[in-house]
Amino acid sequence: MTLLDKTRALQKLSPEVPVEEAASRMAALVEVVRGHALLYYRQDEPIITDGEYDQLFRQLQELEELYPDLKQMDSPTRRVGSAPLDSFTKVQHPEAMLSLGNAFNGDELTAWYERCLRRLEWSTEPKPAVTAELKIDGLAVALTYESGVLIRAATRGDGRVGEDITENVRTIASVPLRLDTSRRAAPASMEVRGEVYFPKSAFDALNASLEARAEKTFANPRNAAAGSLRQLDSSVTASRDLAFFAYSTGPTSEVIAESQYETLHQLEQWGFSRNPEARRFEEIELLGPFCDQWTNLRDDLNYEIDGVVVKIDDIALQERLGNVSNAPRWAVAFKFPARESTTRLNDIIINVGRTGMITPEAVLEPVSIGGVTVSQATLHNADYILERDIRIGDTVVVKRAGDVIPAVVSAVKTVRAGSESTWVMPEVCPACAEPLERLEDEVDSYCVNGACPAQFIRLVEHFASRNALDIEGFGSKLAVQLVEAGLINHLQDIYRLDRDALLSLEGFAERKADKLLQGIEDSKSRPLSRVLFALGIRHVGRTTAETIVAALPGMAEIGQASHDDLVAIDGIGAVIAQSIVDWFSLEPNQEMIASMRDAGVTMHRLQEEAPPDEGDAPFSGLTFVVTGTLPTMGRKDAQEYIKQRGGRAASSVSSKTDYLVEGENAGSKAEKARSLGITIIDEDQLREMGG
Ligand code: NAD
Repeated sequence: MTLLDKTRALQKLSPEVPVEEAASRMAALVEVVRGHALLYYRQDEPIITDGEYDQLFRQLQELEELYPDLKQMDSPTRRVGSAPLDSFTKVQHPEAMLSLGNAFNGDELTAWYERCLRRLEWSTEPKPAVTAELKIDGLAVALTYESGVLIRAATRGDGRVGEDITENVRTIASVPLRLDTSRRAAPASMEVRGEVYFPKSAFDALNASLEARAEKTFANPRNAAAGSLRQLDSSVTASRDLAFFAYSTGPTSEVIAESQYETLHQLEQWGFSRNPEARRFEEIELLGPFCDQWTNLRDDLNYEIDGVVVKIDDIALQERLGNVSNAPRWAVAFKFPARESTTRLNDIIINVGRTGMITPEAVLEPVSIGGVTVSQATLHNADYILERDIRIGDTVVVKRAGDVIPAVVSAVKTVRAGSESTWVMPEVCPACAEPLERLEDEVDSYCVNGACPAQFIRLVEHFASRNALDIEGFGSKLAVQLVEAGLINHLQDIYRLDRDALLSLEGFAERKADKLLQGIEDSKSRPLSRVLFALGIRHVGRTTAETIVAALPGMAEIGQASHDDLVAIDGIGAVIAQSIVDWFSLEPNQEMIASMRDAGVTMHRLQEEAPPDEGDAPFSGLTFVVTGTLPTMGRKDAQEYIKQRGGRAASSVSSKTDYLVEGENAGSKAEKARSLGITIIDEDQLREMGG
């Protein structure tokens, strides 16, 4: 059995272990955890996700707590990292570099803090403060400075012995080779600890260039950082855009600071870059919201984080708390909920969308990600599969983040058995057997048969969906049922549905039928831009529909507009214009519009859809970017507020941005805006300007 097979076998078992099986389960977990640690630390080539590893590790830890007598002397839970590679000179750490205990939710975080209080026998108010820092997903290093000069850099290795990577670290721009002593003299000797990481943008660029040279790419920024740092030739490291955040000190010849938070400031004064998001909390209750916030905002940062590290702030208290074998008691890592997992790609099928667009879908061995079972995921398009060389039978990494549809991210190529098969895009539509078409310069293939049943069901589904005409009680299942029952053959038939016909369908009682009919009635008064979007014209998304409706007052004007008229609208290009002209030129579509008009569906734009007059459009001609958490408005509300006042709400900062609206915990966008000298305002100022 391969390591992966053994892992899968363990993942399938219940974590509740009968006593008689404890020893064998523990032995199996030790073997598997050790195997993955080797792949991760020594080869920088993990074959499962961190979330999966953490779960196995946690299971082993829990069993060892239950059965301490069975705990092996060399269990991986007693150890940190992995022994250094022989190809590097070894460095003995004067003080061990430890790992961190984990907390997977708010309760575990509170439990950790209470354990600290108990150990400190602390019963008075105020309670000890904590510092919360983002947990940077990179590689821990120790930098030794003598009289302010960098003399050595080492990896963590197994915590006691690391690898000498001095020459490589010297090439990292954010590591000071000499301390800035303008405000405080350098200690005679000092060890600074921190994380070397790969900024996401640099990581994407690196993988693209490796791919272009047909070289092996890195699975994630952390592996790229580790691989780039452990190079025997430092010119390779120099060519990679690594960065460094300092977060603590090791042994020093003098006291640097009395608290973790002051340590961060002092390190900054000496010229280190430190993560700007660290906060000190007097009250532990505030930690939960901080962790939640970063769970949601992590993708806004230009570096990967996998959690929040919480530390008792006072260093004297840290010393009193001390360490367990492989981690300090005074710190804990709050880990974000898993959103990636590995599983087997059993098959690739194709899905026909409402515009005829063909999307390859992965059929997966069901896997639980963050508590939700995922058995299908998108593979986007044929090129996506080809570029990533994803094959049927592969072990793949699947990502499920927020509201986004789960997607296959990559294949784990190192565990291929040889039986995997490459996939080719079929030549005909699976629903109507008509040939598929792929236009030059487009990544997607289309079924262009207007009568394709699969497309039509998707179109009906789209028409009724929340962002389109928002018909309550009308979801995908109903779309299939109504189309298959022959009650809907054209979109306009939705407005001809009658109660008796509905009542004859399976699962329809009077209440359900009446509710649906009311939902359909309500949908008639939606704004014109929604109606236009609901028609499913290729390339006409919601924003495009809004832009068109702001320029043309009714469906009739839109239908009569020429290609030139449409291209003259700011934001409408030739491809969209052609698609609209083509759509309205078809007779069945004109009949559809006429029929909907007769049914009473909105055909003229509502007042709120008209472009604001110059006079009452305070934001006319201005571009805003909203970032971070605003005190009262959600980000979407703020963008709506800007648009209603004639402004443009862009999603990324560029030299064309006029204002950045900054909320709490704004990340890389705010940094970029500052570097470009863009005016930064807060929510109050936005409201003042908006009148
Ligand atoms: P850890 O990630 O659990 O915690 C300790 C590390 O956190 C430190 O060494 C340091 O590098 C880092 N860190 C980042 N920001 C910090 C901050 N502000 N303050 C202090 N430390 C900070 O470390 P570990 O012991 O290497 O744990 C293992 C990690 O590696 C886990 O995330 C685990 O999932 C992953 N792993 C994955 C596999 C796999 O197969 N996918 C195998 C082994 C380990």
